Amino acid sequence: MARKANVQKLLDSLISQIGTEVARGVAEGLAKSGLMKNIRTLSRDAKKARPSGKKRGRPKGKVKICSVKGCNKPARAKGLCSKHYQQKRYTKLKKKPAAKRARKSTKRKPTKR
Ligand SMILES: [Zn+2]
Repeated sequence: MARKANVQKLLDSLISQIGTEVARGVAEGLAKSGLMKNIRTLSRDAKKARPSGKKRGRPKGKVKICSVKGCNKPARAKGLCSKHYQQKRYTKLKKKPAAKRARKSTKRKPTKR
């Protein structure tokens, strides 16, 4: 039993030694190749690009109001709220000649089976 424990101990020390040696070797290699510098600058740049706490997307606070009179909803697109924008979009679609619309909508090929 004692022998087994000894072997285990030896193995453990060997493994930890290998680990440290490999880590040192990798670090040396990185330092030699200048990759570490690149990685550091890259990570610094990444931090600079997006400071922690800053959110993506449209900034809040500057909320525009729908340009339609009597509508006080926040504008979504083209200065219109979602309701009025969809209304405008729909009427624009309706104004288009039916043939043109049909051709455009059948652009997608029917799926083969
Ligand atoms: Zn509106």
